[in-house]
Order: sequence, then C-alpha cells, then structure tokens
Amino acid sequence: MLFDTHVHLNADQFEEDLEATIQRANEAGVEYMTVVGFDHKTIPKAIEIAESHEKIYAAVGWHPVDAVDLSDKELEWIEELSSHPKVVAIGEMGLDYHWDKSPADVQKEVFRKQIRLAKKVKMPIIIHNREATDDIVEILKEEDASEVGGIMHCYSGPVETAQECIDMNFMISIGGPVTFKNAKLPKEVAKAIDLKHMLVETDCPFLAPHPNRGKRNEPAYVKLVAEQIAELKEITFEEVSEVTTSNALQFFGIQS
Ligand SMILES: [Zn+2]
Ligand SMILES: [Zn+2]
Repeated sequence: MLFDTHVHLNADQFEEDLEATIQRANEAGVEYMTVVGFDHKTIPKAIEIAESHEKIYAAVGWHPVDAVDLSDKELEWIEELSSHPKVVAIGEMGLDYHWDKSPADVQKEVFRKQIRLAKKVKMPIIIHNREATDDIVEILKEEDASEVGGIMHCYSGPVETAQECIDMNFMISIGGPVTFKNAKLPKEVAKAIDLKHMLVETDCPFLAPHPNRGKRNEPAYVKLVAEQIAELKEITFEEVSEVTTSNALQFFGIQS
C-alpha cells in the first residue's frame, strides 16, 4: 500500500477523468492521497474531492507564486477550513524564486503569516521551495516552525539541509525527479536519509517520473518513485511502501 502525499487531482488536467485516475491509483496499490489546494479555485475543489473519497485528504494554503493575491480574507478562509475533518495540513506555502509574479518580500511575508496561522490552529505545514532553500530554512527557524513540523515537498536540496529540516520536525518528501538519470541531489538524499523521515509523492499532474517524464503525471506513478528509492537504498519495494505509508498516516494523524 502506498500514500501519495502531494497530488493536484484538483487541477484542470484531471477534469475529464478524475474517477478513472483514482481507480488506476487504487489498482496500483495507491490507496491514500492528500490533495493540495493553493488558491481560490483549487482549495474548494480539493475539499470536494476529499469529501467524496474516504481515503483522500486535503491540504489548504496559499502558493508563493500567487502571494500578491492573498489578503486577510483569504487567510481567514484558510483558518476556517483548517477545522474541516478531512483537512490534514496547511499548505502548500513557501518561496518560489523561479517565477516573478510575486516579489520575494511579499512571498516571505505571506509565508510567515501562514506559518503563524498553522501554529495557531496547531497543524503541520507543507513547504513548496523553488530556488529559495536558504531563505526557507531561515524563515522556518525564525518562526519556530518546528512547533508544528511539516513536509519539505518534492525535496531537491542537499543532504545537509534535509537533515537540518528533519531536526526541525520536518519530513522529506521524495518525488518523480529521483527517477531522472541526471538528478544527483534527489538520489543522494534518497540514499542518505533514514526511511523513517521519508514520504513519497507525485506532485501530479507535474513532474512525471521516468519513463513517463514529460507526460501528465498521476498518483499511480508514485510506485515508480518508491521503486527507485528501494533500488537506491538496496532494500525491498515492500519495505519502502510500508514505512512511508505508515509515516504519512502518522504524520497526518489518520487512523487507518
Ligand atoms: Zn509545490
Ligand atoms: Zn504542489
């Protein structure tokens, strides 16, 4: 059994075949999923999907790329939704220096506000990081994010930073890039980090693992990520599935 801890089944790319996609995931042994909503459109959709599927949960937050669109109204909305029985985390939130829609200082402020909100409602956070590792770690430290802990989603940084995050009560979530031939850091991290701090994810519809790279990603493919981790750690696929699933259930506070 596998738990895909970061999916965007709420994206337009799944509009046509959502139920068939979930079915394919279940057939591949992917029973549990967390759908991540991060704006006006994807948050209600994440909740709706979680409400209509027993083993699908939701996370709600505000994406750093759209930080300029967040006002107190959105923050209050996220706070309200945090008490929904299927909402298991706040996020994704963080910093994304690849796109320039929202200036870095606005992103940082919105990131800090969401960490404070998560601490207020006592929920873990899901971190999106693109080209901003140092600033992310600094803010997590300054805001005492270790109090709630969280997930470094689709982690692609160095081993030392992963360890620093683990020391702050964060889980390291490994995504499709670990299967790419030239992905040096993700492979190093998958090898070095203890399985007990590890989760697996697809981030679908993005970042499809090899040999589906470039195509639409879907939760069934998280199996390819787990297989790659097993190969790198020289352990069985069953062990990777078992441990990462039990990590995720425990992390999200789900009674299985
Ligand atoms: Zn992300
Ligand atoms: Zn995402």
